[in-house]
Amino acid sequence: MTTQRTGARQLNPIDELAELFTGEGGGDYHGEAVTIAAHMLQAGARAQAAGASNALVAAALLHDIGHFSGLIPDRDRVAGADDHHDDRGADWLARWFDGAVTEPVRLHVAAKRYLCAVEPDYFARLSAKSVHTLNLQGGPMSEQEVRDFEGSQHAEAAVALRRWDEAAKDPQAPTPDFEHFRPLLESLVRP
Ligand code: FE
Repeated sequence: MTTQRTGARQLNPIDELAELFTGEGGGDYHGEAVTIAAHMLQAGARAQAAGASNALVAAALLHDIGHFSGLIPDRDRVAGADDHHDDRGADWLARWFDGAVTEPVRLHVAAKRYLCAVEPDYFARLSAKSVHTLNLQGGPMSEQEVRDFEGSQHAEAAVALRRWDEAAKDPQAPTPDFEHFRPLLESLVRP
């Protein structure tokens, strides 16, 4: 599959992702101590180290792709508002990947709201930025939202992803490059 984003140049999906990681991904991650690319690469590495399925490693690697500007033409960048990067990223990835990759991405913000509701310690481990966005995203889940979330097919995967997400903001952590994940991603792209 090809893309309109690069105009005359036609990139395959993995090359398009590689370009995002090595280009815009080198930018600041909303004040975290690592770049957004390093954050996503660390999340993928943590998923892999934990023995996650290839699909879940890919989801961890790509979970914040919805933050990239220019990726989704109509994305809103309203200051102080939720950017809905979970849905936007999942929808964008759905051109190439199945639900086992896209749905944990879609639910990774919900998983934060879930963990804040069910684990008293969890909130204390969030970065300052994550606390700020939690408030924009609706705060901890209500009891009804917790029950609905637990009933969703990809809840467990999303919670696992979320824990790697929180842990993937360490400037000292080993950070593989994007090419490390290329074969895994190629195995998951729909023909
Ligand atoms: Fe993240």
